[in-house]
Amino acid sequence: MTPFHAIVVNKTESAYTAELKTVDESALSTTGDKDVLVKVDYSTINYKDGLAITGKSPIIRKFPMIPGIDFAGTVVESADPEFKQGDAVILNGWGVGETHPGGLAQYAKVKGDWLIHTPAAFTSRQAMAIGTAGYTAMLCILAIEGHGVKPADGDVLVTGAAGGVGSVAIALLSARGFRVVASTGRPNESAYLTSIGAAEVIDRAELSAPGKPLGKERWAAVVDSVGSHTLVNACATTKAEGAVAACGLAQGMDFPATVAPFILRGVALYGINSVTAPRQRREKAWQRLAADLNTTTLGAMTSEIRLSEVLDKANDILAGKIRGRLVVNVN
Ligand code: NDP
Repeated sequence: MTPFHAIVVNKTESAYTAELKTVDESALSTTGDKDVLVKVDYSTINYKDGLAITGKSPIIRKFPMIPGIDFAGTVVESADPEFKQGDAVILNGWGVGETHPGGLAQYAKVKGDWLIHTPAAFTSRQAMAIGTAGYTAMLCILAIEGHGVKPADGDVLVTGAAGGVGSVAIALLSARGFRVVASTGRPNESAYLTSIGAAEVIDRAELSAPGKPLGKERWAAVVDSVGSHTLVNACATTKAEGAVAACGLAQGMDFPATVAPFILRGVALYGINSVTAPRQRREKAWQRLAADLNTTTLGAMTSEIRLSEVLDKANDILAGKIRGRLVVNVN
């Protein structure tokens, strides 16, 4: 294999560094089981990648490490009979970019079991415009629907609305006929949020401060990527027998709640973990994304950057400055 470009994060006693480098095959580890070598077309920057690249949270567990928790590309070599040369594949999670070299590189070598086939509806770029953020949004919606929530039950709240998970959740929910209320700290993004499917936009300050154990019943369901007081208040204002899907911690990892919404209103709180979700659930999520997501809307929430811009954008995503989704053209 000829040398290729990758972001490489390193940690020494004195420094935490992230650099664009030229590396060779030795930068890719074997998984020891059904390795598949993939020529990466696109990766992305999710919130977790921002944490990993800047070192703001201990996401990366081994150094040096190629970050990038997701990628879409084309199989070059496969020891897994499920995949053959030329297949279009997607990877989300499984510790890639954390404990195993990740997607912010021109090549990746991963275990076949971690990959899924890219749905025919999507190019590699579109698959990564969705990325782990969008796939997680779909997992949240599957949890809410699995609970039995229907559009006629009332409004669905989406927090962190102008971010990646939030934007894709809004588009998916509105396409399914739900009336979506988008909570954002960026009122200047109201027109954007309406254009991708929000029926109403509220200021996230309504939800982000400590509140009462129970409030007026407002939401049939919630998709929350923010955590902390926002998640607590979302639970406290969810209608009886409603469902809340919690996937993120952009406001904080804490959950300073009372049990009131759960024991007095029967509200259900679903935890969403995309990293190790079983393959069957992943494939279901991606099939539903292919069926439900309008690719024009997806295009409107997507910006493209190059590998050399990743380091700057890692800071921006943590500062809540990225609108929608950022795809990285690694080539
Ligand atoms: P983004 O940065 O794209 O979106 C996060 C959004 O949260 C921001 O755009 C902003 O939206 C809002 N936000 C940021 N800071 C704060 C704050 N201090 N208080 C309240 N709201 C805030 O990130 P992603 O969409 O990629 O990820 C969102 C969250 O979901 C992250 O915590 C991420 O780790 C988590 N996640 C979890 C997964 C899982 O498997 N459980 C998988 C994927 C993501 P606005 O400006 O509209 O207010």
